[in-house]
Amino acid sequence: MRPEILEPLFRPVTSIPGIGQRFAKLIERLAGPRVVDLLWHLPSGVIDRRAMPKIAGAKEGEVATLLLRVDQHRPPRIKRLPYKVFCSDETGAIVLVFFHAKGDYLQRALPEGKQVAVSGKIELYDGQPQITHPDRMAPAEDIDEVAGVEPIHPLTEGLPGRTLRRAIAKALESVPALPEWIDRAYLAARGWPAWREAIRQAHAPATLAELEPTLPARARLAYDELLANQLALALVRNQGRRRRGRPLSGDGRLRSKVLGALPYRLTEGQNRAIEEIIADLAAPKRMQRLLQGDVGSGKTVVAFLALLVAVEAGAQGALMAPTEILARQHFATLAPLAQAAGVRIELLTGRAKGAARDRLLADLASGAVDILLGTHALIQEDVEFKDLGLAVVDEQHRFGVRQRLAIAAKAETATGGVDVLAMTATPIPRTLLLTAYGDMEVSRLIEKPAGRQKIDTRAVPVERLDEVIAGLDRALKAGRRAYWICPLITDSEAIDLAAAEARAATLKERFGDMVGLVHGRQKSAERDAAMQAFVDGRVRLLVATTVIEVGVDVPEATIMVIEHAERFGLAQLHQLRGRVGRGAEKSSCLLLYTAPLADTAKARLSTLRETDDGFAIAEMDLKLRGPGELLGARQSGMPEFRLARLDAHADLIAVARDQARLLVAREAMTGPEAEALRALLYLFDRDDGVKLLRSA
Ligand code: ADP
Ligand code: MG
Repeated sequence: MRPEILEPLFRPVTSIPGIGQRFAKLIERLAGPRVVDLLWHLPSGVIDRRAMPKIAGAKEGEVATLLLRVDQHRPPRIKRLPYKVFCSDETGAIVLVFFHAKGDYLQRALPEGKQVAVSGKIELYDGQPQITHPDRMAPAEDIDEVAGVEPIHPLTEGLPGRTLRRAIAKALESVPALPEWIDRAYLAARGWPAWREAIRQAHAPATLAELEPTLPARARLAYDELLANQLALALVRNQGRRRRGRPLSGDGRLRSKVLGALPYRLTEGQNRAIEEIIADLAAPKRMQRLLQGDVGSGKTVVAFLALLVAVEAGAQGALMAPTEILARQHFATLAPLAQAAGVRIELLTGRAKGAARDRLLADLASGAVDILLGTHALIQEDVEFKDLGLAVVDEQHRFGVRQRLAIAAKAETATGGVDVLAMTATPIPRTLLLTAYGDMEVSRLIEKPAGRQKIDTRAVPVERLDEVIAGLDRALKAGRRAYWICPLITDSEAIDLAAAEARAATLKERFGDMVGLVHGRQKSAERDAAMQAFVDGRVRLLVATTVIEVGVDVPEATIMVIEHAERFGLAQLHQLRGRVGRGAEKSSCLLLYTAPLADTAKARLSTLRETDDGFAIAEMDLKLRGPGELLGARQSGMPEFRLARLDAHADLIAVARDQARLLVAREAMTGPEAEALRALLYLFDRDDGVKLLRSA
């Protein structure tokens, strides 16, 4: 139940005078369907219309507001020509120019013989001052209103800036004063205004400088958003803590068999991560740990060893992967290790059907299956474990924060108090970690397994495609394997697919059966078959859309060609490149680009050439892309912020986190502050947190 006081903010935008269905649709696309969404749509610029020169003093290129007498309308003789309105003041004459004009509208707005206020950019045409399409036209008596500072907002086609501005102004009139949720002392120390004052100020910048995200009004709003985010996470974390976990500890007998069967030694980082996990598992509280390690850092084996601890302790384990390909790949690599340890491991995906599935579920319920691997299929209703002790979520960023919580909760209903290990290859910078995973402990795998060589990375203009193909020819003849990633040109999967198919066809002409194709539209059986052919080496050149991005491990692949590399984000390029360089052989990555490159694209490609440190790349990505876009917020499961900017407000994140933990720890959520904090959570749609409050 949303607090009454917030009601005016959660009405649809159609409740604002002047906003009908048509504009509402556009506003929804731009900002969202509710009044509060409109309020979060802050100005991105200002136009200063305060200069009020006479015509003779008006400077070319300047925005000015003029008091003019309308002398004469001159409609065009033919349609293509502009409609002109001749005006003057005591110092000179000026022409207002309109293309595709509606004459009757102009007659009404600019009546001949009358004084009017007109604002726009002054141009010179043949030495004669003119304004093409003035931004504002009003009766002379309204000149003070016209000659102000006007906020500019990001717009969408069909929605006039003025309509949006009016709607926001109207919305601001009915903004309620809200109870204060920020610690008084902190608020005072920062010199921040109250919420209502802050939202009004943020919408009324008088100069460009007032758009600075660190100025009090904007900083306060950003902090509000971060606090809501951290508070929701802290509540979830608190709830998880309170629910008792069970201590899981093993005698190491299964682990030592597996370690003996591994063809390599664990890295120091892997050992450390396992130690941390073992300590968590042994503790009586629930584990909620994130294992963060760059692509190829060897997270899978860490997860497997953790699962073996659960099995040694007499419980079961589960590992969930985001795609069928990945689940199968895990099964293929882990099954031999499980066999070495005498542990029964099974695979459950959406494809399991009928009697075989029933048998598998029965064995799971009886405890005959020790470890279950799979996709989302694992969290289906009828999947019941005898005694699930540990759930591992691989490539967890693919699932999103909400889903991760759902998975934990799901596992919980099965047995209560399941330990959770989430894994991600997304090299999330510290600041972002807090916003997305403030509720989790983190283990990091920093170094790569020994013997890995740096991937030779080059940017190549697409004009040199022939050379690239010739080089590929030599490599394939020498028995090497390569990926060829096709562009993400559009949002349309169908069009991207067409591009991939066309590329596969040209490469087939040259290389014949050696070429395979995988993409997101294939039936999973077909896709797996194509993948398998590449794993086996029957296919040596795999053309792929970005389905390949997640976790695929074919150590024999040593060449990665990425077409239209300039269109990919930095983090995504890094992920793609991480598919090679996994074996002992020297690998290379060719970034094919189409010139001319924009500055940020140039910076992305050169960053990639210079470093393969995922964390450095992530920090760079944050700088180049702006945090909203980081890693593609949607696909990374990162919360998307409307007001907070992770570059500008990074310092506020830690404050918000500490504050949130403090509030939860001293149970402010049930005391007199509760009302304000509840309003905060609702205001930012963190009502998940509110639900936990209620059950608390
Ligand atoms: P990711 O962290 O991206 O999931 P994987 O677990 O798929 O990485 O491991 C990548 C590759 O590295 C696999 O082929 C795996 O067998 C290998 N590997 C893992 N740990 C080590 C190690 N300590 N030494 C050598 N190779 C390792
Ligand atoms: Mg992996």
